[in-house]
Amino acid sequence: MNPASPKAVKKILGELGTRPNKALGQNFLIDEKVLSLTVEASQITGQHGVLEIGPGIGALTYELSKHAGKVAAIEIDRTFAAYLEGAFSDCGNVKIICADALKSDLNKIISENFGNMPVAVVANLPYYITSPLIMKFLEDTLPVESVTVMIQKEVAQRITASPSTADYGALSVAAQYYSTPRIIGFVPPESFLPPPKVTSAVIRLDLKNHVRPQVKNEKKFFLVVKAAFGQRRKTLANALSACFDMPKDEIKEIIKSICQNENVRGENLDIDQFIKISELIR
Ligand code: SAM
Repeated sequence: MNPASPKAVKKILGELGTRPNKALGQNFLIDEKVLSLTVEASQITGQHGVLEIGPGIGALTYELSKHAGKVAAIEIDRTFAAYLEGAFSDCGNVKIICADALKSDLNKIISENFGNMPVAVVANLPYYITSPLIMKFLEDTLPVESVTVMIQKEVAQRITASPSTADYGALSVAAQYYSTPRIIGFVPPESFLPPPKVTSAVIRLDLKNHVRPQVKNEKKFFLVVKAAFGQRRKTLANALSACFDMPKDEIKEIIKSICQNENVRGENLDIDQFIKISELIR
C-alpha cells in the first residue's frame, strides 16, 4: 500500500503504536502530486542508485523504488526502520539503513550499495538539520549527480538567492559554488501530516563535480565568505580586517581592484569576486 494518504499514515502509526516526533522533523507526505513532482524533478531512471534520507513510513521510498535501479534509505527512527524492513522485504531494490544520516559515511553507503551506478539524492528532509545535511551532500565530494529535496521555502530561497538581495548569504555562496540550484515548486503545509508550521519547497541542485570554479585555496575562500557574512552590516573591508591579519588599507586596495568600490558589503559580491579576493588576501 502506498502510505501517502492521511488514512494510511494514521493507520500505520496506530499499528506501530507511535506518534510523529516533532524533534525528528516527522511530517509525512500525504500528497501524491508532490511525490510525483519530486520524483519527476529528480530525473532518475532505472540505471540510478538513489540515496534517500529520512524515509519515515516510506511514501517517497515507494515511489522511488518504482523508478530507480536501487534505493538506499537512511532512517534514524528505529521503529520506522524496522517497519520499512518488513514493508519492503519483497522489494528487491530497497535497502533500509537505520542510522543518523548526519553521522553516516555517505561515501561508503554509496559505494557499497550502488557500485558504478549514477547516483542521485532524493528526500523529504528533516527540517531541523536541512542546512548541515545539504552541506554534507555538497562538501563530502560524494559521487552524486544531483540532490532533489523538500526543504523549508526560506532555506530554498537562501540557497538560490542572487547577490545584493536580502536572502543572499554564506549558504547561497556555498551551494552555488558546489552546484547549480533551482526551485522546482512550493508545497503548502496541508500536503503533510502533521502539517509543519512553514511552507516547503522542492529544490534540485545539480552538482558541479567536474566543472567547479577553480579555487587555489578553498579553505581561505570559505574563510573570506564566512567573514563577509558574519558581520553583514559592516563593509567588506571592515569585516575582513577583523578576521585577517593584514593592514586595512591593503584590504581596501584589494577590494577596490576587484569591485571598483572599496565600500562594498559582502552581500554585493558574486562568487567570482569572492574567489579573486581570497586569492589576494593573506
Ligand atoms: N520521507 C517521509 C515522507 O516524505 O513522508 C518522511 C519525511 S519526514 C519530513 C523526515 C524523516 O527523517 C523522519 O522519518 C525522521 O525520523 C527522519 N530523520 C530525522 N532525523 C534524521 C537523521 N539525522 N538521519 C536520518 N533520518 C532522520
